[in-house]
Amino acid sequence: MTWETVIGLEIHAQLLTKSKAFSGASTKYGAEPNTQACAVDIALPGALPVYNKEAARMAVKFGLAIGAQINRRSVFARKNYFYPDLPKGYQISQYELPIVAKGQLTVEVDGQEKIIGITRAHLEEDAGKSLHEDFHGMTGIDLNRAGTPLLEIVSEPDLRSAKEAVAYMKKLHQLVVYLGICDGNMQEGSFRCDANVSVRRKGDPKLGTRAEIKNVNSFRFVEKAIEHEIERQIDLIESGKQIVQETRLYDSDQDVTRSMRSKEEAMDYRYFPDPDLPPLVVTEDFIRDVEATIPELPDAKRARFMQDYGLNGYDAGVLTSARAMADYYEQTVRESKADPKIVANWIAVELSGYLNRDNKEIAQSPVTAPMMAGLLKRLTDNTISGKIAKELLEAMWAGEGDADAVIEKRGLKQITDSGAIEKAIDEVIARNPKQLEQYRAGKEALFGFFVGQVMKATQGKANPQQVNEFLKKKLSP
Ligand code: ADP
Ligand code: MG
Repeated sequence: MTWETVIGLEIHAQLLTKSKAFSGASTKYGAEPNTQACAVDIALPGALPVYNKEAARMAVKFGLAIGAQINRRSVFARKNYFYPDLPKGYQISQYELPIVAKGQLTVEVDGQEKIIGITRAHLEEDAGKSLHEDFHGMTGIDLNRAGTPLLEIVSEPDLRSAKEAVAYMKKLHQLVVYLGICDGNMQEGSFRCDANVSVRRKGDPKLGTRAEIKNVNSFRFVEKAIEHEIERQIDLIESGKQIVQETRLYDSDQDVTRSMRSKEEAMDYRYFPDPDLPPLVVTEDFIRDVEATIPELPDAKRARFMQDYGLNGYDAGVLTSARAMADYYEQTVRESKADPKIVANWIAVELSGYLNRDNKEIAQSPVTAPMMAGLLKRLTDNTISGKIAKELLEAMWAGEGDADAVIEKRGLKQITDSGAIEKAIDEVIARNPKQLEQYRAGKEALFGFFVGQVMKATQGKANPQQVNEFLKKKLSP
């Protein structure tokens, strides 16, 4: 415990605009290479950029959501470097004056809340893609992605473990998806992370030399990459060597980080304001307009679910993890009129189990909110027992139809006819004389055995309360 880890994340969120940051070309993912790159994107001489107002709107929306100062005037700058997927020879970014200034995000790790500072968020454009595998001995360049708007969100070096870094990243991911400014698709690269990692001796006020791990695109890999990097740095220092400031890549196959290049300094990029673009000016009216479009955010929604529906923090957290999930829950509560805590359990545990198993989003659930409400109505009015309800959900998930149809078709109605239940009990008792004797001699744990036998004899359809009641009577001497 003599070492302290220091982490700062730079997260790139691809903004959900229809067209690019500085041109009218489409941003749609998955098109044929180079069919969505116009004169501006491929840098034909004389083609001039025009900034996308929607991208600015989304950046402001984000800034307001993290309680940040919005800079009324921000400046686009050229970040110069050479790479084949960057036809202009520079990336348009924001340097000295970003659109979003200091803000913060609260994360929870092991039940502890912690505030993480956000230094800034700025608008920039993405580069194209090099295709190394499609052509023999050659590299293809696809410029469809060139010019796609990104919001780069830079954290303070406030994170102290890989776990905290992942919690922060997840919280940010949830936020941008809630805000509707990013689709959050990490496989397609819509949300990716550069992790800056250093270590220092506990109590040392100075930050250690950092390494930057580039472009990690899954939560699990971020955690692993950071953990490896911490270990590597501690090993180096403890064996008397120095950490060099550099850019490293995470190799998920080998589960190691590898040096890519020594870290550039800002001066290497020769930043200067882009003379083709005027400063981005944001008015009070614009900010007020954007503010009105901010939906209820995850933390507020979670608190409301705990307050209004009496849920615990865990369930409220699961049910507000995504907007679609929260909407599903509230619709089910409204339509079923069932106890909100029972509804929570059926969605956060039972339905989520199927969603996870089949790797589906709530929006793709074959059991819709009205269907779930149908199931809960029959559970609440005692048409079916909890156990049968699970069988019912399984059938509904498999596409057999809505609750009432499946109950009818499979004959799942609960047996509440006391004559039929008593008959089943009498038969079970007659078949188990030894257990009856032991029970009457004081082995009360056998009560559960009898309940189980009766439920089995009725294929789980006997009303459990009635079974309990009658069994008590009939078993007592
Ligand atoms: P650059 O311009 O090289 O990207 P910045 O100063 O903008 O560098 O910092 C980038 C990120 O690195 C920020 O998230 C910041 O919190 C983090 N950071 C800076 N210094 C350290 C350090 N010594 N250890 C860990 N993270 C750091
Ligand atoms: Mg940086």
